[in-house]
Amino acid sequence: MENTTPRTLATTVGRRSFLKMGALSVAFGATSGFASGSVTRVATEEEVKNPFPESKTVKTICTSCSVGCGVIAEVHNGVWVRQEVAQDHPISLGGHCCKGADMIDMIRSEVRLKYPMVKENGQWKRLSWEDALDRIATKLAEIKKENGPDAVQFLGSAKMSNEQAYYLRKFAAFFGTNNIDHQARI
Ligand code: SF4
Repeated sequence: MENTTPRTLATTVGRRSFLKMGALSVAFGATSGFASGSVTRVATEEEVKNPFPESKTVKTICTSCSVGCGVIAEVHNGVWVRQEVAQDHPISLGGHCCKGADMIDMIRSEVRLKYPMVKENGQWKRLSWEDALDRIATKLAEIKKENGPDAVQFLGSAKMSNEQAYYLRKFAAFFGTNNIDHQARI
């Protein structure tokens, strides 16, 4: 059987490719289709006259942890504008923790992180994903060299699929540590 110890794999695959294997799962500055462009625009005359021709409520769940508390999302013209707790949800019974109570701001918050950023000389600046991956790979390699792999902890996310969680677990193992947990536990 092929030797796939961390050192061998990292050497074979290359530092950057190795990181990319985990990139789907590592939850730094995660972005999505929602993040592109602005969420505001000037209303058309028709929209001013009839602001919400297609309003509906959608029963959904909070995705911040695996409890899956019920959320009622009010949607106007395809845009999520308001949320309420789902009183009849069999698990949460109308309750939320603070993360779920603010679920809608995962979409509309003005301080939502939409792309990788770095603070240099007191100023935040945008990075390309390539640049971000290079910087993170370099930093991780430095930490591992100076303090060993257990100086790093990997945190998963309830927003990951099973496959992404699998990648993150593998990534931590290849890095050489068992320091891995789920964000909900903190
Ligand atoms: S993060 Fe909070 S509100 Fe969301 S599913 Fe978990 S317990 Fe429920």
